[in-house]
Amino acid sequence: MSTEFFHPEEGLSREEIASLQTQRLRETLERAKHSPFYSERLQGIDPESLNSPEDIRHLPLTSKEDLRAFYPWGFLTEPVENMVRLHASSGTTGSPIAILYTRQDLANWAELVARCMNMVGVRSGDIFQNLSGYGLFTGGLGIHYGAERLGCLTIPAGAGNSKRQIKLLQDFRVSVVHIIPSYAMHLSTVIRETGMDPADLPLRIALIGAEPHTEEIRQRIEEMYKVSAYNSYGLSEMNGPGVAFECPEQKGMHLWEDSYIMEILDPRTLEPVEEGEYGELVMTTLNREGMPLIRYRTKDLTRLVPGACPCGRTHRRIERIAGRTDDMIILKGVNIYPMQVEKILMGIPEVGQNYQIVLERSGYIDHMRVRVEIKDEYFVEDMRVLKGLEQKIARSLREELLVSPRVELVEHRSLPRNEGKAERVVDMRQSEN
Ligand code: ADP
Ligand code: ZN
Repeated sequence: MSTEFFHPEEGLSREEIASLQTQRLRETLERAKHSPFYSERLQGIDPESLNSPEDIRHLPLTSKEDLRAFYPWGFLTEPVENMVRLHASSGTTGSPIAILYTRQDLANWAELVARCMNMVGVRSGDIFQNLSGYGLFTGGLGIHYGAERLGCLTIPAGAGNSKRQIKLLQDFRVSVVHIIPSYAMHLSTVIRETGMDPADLPLRIALIGAEPHTEEIRQRIEEMYKVSAYNSYGLSEMNGPGVAFECPEQKGMHLWEDSYIMEILDPRTLEPVEEGEYGELVMTTLNREGMPLIRYRTKDLTRLVPGACPCGRTHRRIERIAGRTDDMIILKGVNIYPMQVEKILMGIPEVGQNYQIVLERSGYIDHMRVRVEIKDEYFVEDMRVLKGLEQKIARSLREELLVSPRVELVEHRSLPRNEGKAERVVDMRQSEN
């Protein structure tokens, strides 16, 4: 696969990246001071006093709560007449926030997404289907304009309607898709029900992201569809997709450091973690006009991948997102992330495409119940076989999590699923009180 750079900035030396970041950080601070929020927050801070990207530590952090408090215009650096697009977080957690973009912001964003797609071998001759929800969610239009910028024939299929998705995939001999991993799992089942094998589609590349998923899920997608699947990370607050993306090495995601300054902080002390330790990803936009964000707390947990990448790109890599700080389940004093559960489940061959974690309370005691879809061929009548499987799954979970969840095996396709991001955890603990 050719991995030629789409943009010379992909190969800048570390010194060049640092000086570019310092210069852009100063410009960003100057600009940010025009917004109601930052004019107050950055009072007394002289942008010229920052001499390296590390000096960013002296600046205050920005949180999602700040975005909510200054909703809808409080972060704009220019009159709203200069804005041409609005996206909003889907509100997975709490009330919505809005991100506004100037024309130049949209052009820069499309360039970043095109760069990511080019990196993994997507080319202008590819036929590209975007199975992300369009509308306020950035995975639709964000990826769409990047694919067009690259020159792909771009099919804005949107989310859901699996039958129509399959028809488009077949009729137009689609070679590249962008798809949420949990939907890729579900779609494979629907494809099989039509009598086809997902591997029969002429797909060669899948861009997967927008929700946490494990390496095990990636491998299942690659095997089922016979594609190479690349992890795509982004969030509305930082534009949307195109922030960090896996390269052909598939060992971590390059975070584009000409466009963002990244920090990984201990979420409790807000100090940088030791290199290679897990922490909360905090980012600063470096070339956003309409709505720059400084030291924004993403709530996403990750760590740096050490060393230089063999692909030649100099931008540092982050590991796949382990979870969000607000995803953490505390059960009997033990901290658990849904991805730990997924990793175990998806490593067990009998486990099918979907699972759900239910948190319950009886009296003062919390329990975790893990509902697991089992592949058709294993869902046999023999109760002993099923009991044995249940015990095997429970044992593996207990070894990883150090608490004993109840395991409930359910039939293939019986768990509820969303068109958008999967909801892995159902917390019934409050409602039972
Ligand atoms: P919402 O907050 O409503 O979900 P966004 O669409 O902006 O709105 O979602 C961004 C979030 O989605 C990220 O902060 C992260 O938690 C998650 N996310 C996005 N891409 C990935 C990915 N590749 N892996 C894991 N999580 C991801
Ligand atoms: Zn690389």
